[in-house]
Amino acid sequence: MEAVEKAYAKLNLSLDILGRRPDGYHDLRMVMASVDLCDEVAVSLRTDGEIRLACEGIRLPIDGRNLAVRAAQAFFDAAGIRPGADIFLRKKIPVGSGMAGGSSDGAAVLRALDRLTGTGMTPERLRAVGLTVGSDVPYCVSGGVALAEGRGERLTPQPDLPECRIVICKPPFPVSTPELFRASDSIELSVRPDTDGLLLALREHDLAGAARRMYNVFEDVLPQSASEILSIRDRLLGYGALGAVMTGTGSAVFGIFDSGAKALTAAESLAGEYKDCFLASPVPASPEPQRGDAP
Ligand code: C5P
Repeated sequence: MEAVEKAYAKLNLSLDILGRRPDGYHDLRMVMASVDLCDEVAVSLRTDGEIRLACEGIRLPIDGRNLAVRAAQAFFDAAGIRPGADIFLRKKIPVGSGMAGGSSDGAAVLRALDRLTGTGMTPERLRAVGLTVGSDVPYCVSGGVALAEGRGERLTPQPDLPECRIVICKPPFPVSTPELFRASDSIELSVRPDTDGLLLALREHDLAGAARRMYNVFEDVLPQSASEILSIRDRLLGYGALGAVMTGTGSAVFGIFDSGAKALTAAESLAGEYKDCFLASPVPASPEPQRGDAP
C-alpha cells in the first residue's frame, strides 16, 4: 500500500529573532503560512528495514542528508519498529529558497508513515519527532497560518489568510542559513516586525493590514551579493503587491496581491527572467488525523 501526501511550501509572513540560545540556536518569533506550491511525497513500507529514496524534478542527495530519509529514520526510532520504506519525491519547491521544502517533505513522510504503520501517534508526538529532524518540521506537520516561537516548534494556530494571490520568485542563488544567523548575531537589529499587529490584522481578516506589516529581520543582514532579493521585493511592490518580503533565510521573496490580474502580470514579467517564479494561493492547515482510523 502507498500513502501519498502533499508537502506544501511555507512562507514567512514575518520573522523576528529574539536572541541567541545557549544550545546555538536562536529564539525566533515568526508567522508562517502554507501555499499550494507543493512537492508530492509517496511512501510505501518495505520489509527489509532499508530506507530508499528516489527523487524527480530536482537533483538532491538521496541519503541521510535528505530530511525525508532522516524523518523516516526518526519515525521508526520513535515507534520502535523498522520495516523500512520506499520514498518517492516529486519536487517542485526549489531547494535553498527559505520555503522549508525539505522540512515539508520530512513532515509528509512522518504523516505517511503514521498512516501506513497505524502507530497512531498524536500530531504533538509527530511534531516532537519532527523537531529531531529540523526546526521547521514541527510546523510542516500541519502547516496553515501559525505563530511559531522558540526554535520554531512552539506553534499557535492563527486564522487563515483572506483570499489572495501570492507571487513567489527565487533568484538563482542560495543564501547560507548559518551565515545569515551569524550575521544577525553581529549587529543590533534596528527594524523589527510588528508581529502583534500582523496577528491582529489576521484576526480581523484585514489582508492589506497583514501584508503591510510583513517583515523579515534577515533582510537587514543580507550580504551585498544577495541584494537582488531586495530588488525583486521592490519590483513586486511596484506591480501592486500589498506587501512583499523575503521568506526564511531566502533566497525566495514573495508578494501578496488582492488582485489576480496584478499578480498574473507580476508573475509573467518575473518569469521571463527567473526560472523559479510561481503564482500561488494560501492553503489552510491540514486537518489533524482522526485517531482510530485504520491505516
Ligand atoms: O534546525 P535546522 O537544522 O533546520 O537549523 C539549521 C540551522 O539554522 C541551524 O544549524 C542554526 O544555525 C540555524 N537556526 C537557528 N535557530 C533556529 C533555527 C535554525 O540558529 N531557531
